[in-house]
Amino acid sequence: MSQILIVEDEQRIASFVAKGLKAAGLTSEHVTTGAAGYERAMTGDFELIVLDLGLPDMDGMDVLERLRGSGNTLPVIVLTARTTLEASVGSLEGGADDYLAKPFRFEELLARIRLRLRTATVAAAGPAIMRCGDVELDPLTRRVTVAGAEVDLSAREFALAEALISHAGRALSREQLLSRVWGYDFDPGSNVVDVYVRYLRAKVGAARIETVRGVGYRMVP
Ligand code: CA
Repeated sequence: MSQILIVEDEQRIASFVAKGLKAAGLTSEHVTTGAAGYERAMTGDFELIVLDLGLPDMDGMDVLERLRGSGNTLPVIVLTARTTLEASVGSLEGGADDYLAKPFRFEELLARIRLRLRTATVAAAGPAIMRCGDVELDPLTRRVTVAGAEVDLSAREFALAEALISHAGRALSREQLLSRVWGYDFDPGSNVVDVYVRYLRAKVGAARIETVRGVGYRMVP
């Protein structure tokens, strides 16, 4: 049984999301049509749906409407290339719990998924604080402390710290960090990862983020 149902016809985006979810410890199943999405969603096997609006057989909004019309209350996060205000408001009025405009960063989607899963599971245990050594990060409140002292991170620095801590002790390549923190359509030749690692080191302590030669970076527990 998978936790997240991904309804998305673009293979590239679906596998980007599926890989990220797997790395975050969440299981997923992927379908490419609205009909299959509706059918799978109605099985009760899932905890949340990531729903693309531009599907080959029907509009994602119609899938959502059918689901809500059938009494299905699964949290739905809509992915849309439509960036107009009407589209955003429309998806929320249509019963979506949240929406994200493409292109999006994976960490942004993950934060929303976690929030919705938590909202859906009233009896869930306390927030999952992420730790690596004396660095603590709370994905919900976005609070970060180093040896008990709060540090102020920008959204991007926070996403980078989150990616590194979720793989604490293991190295992440620049490409993995680009994809997890900046999104799938970022220029792979960019040195933005190195720049942000430098920013983050200045805030959490240089020794806590190790350079792994020929690979990338690793958070030291
Ligand atoms: Ca699409």
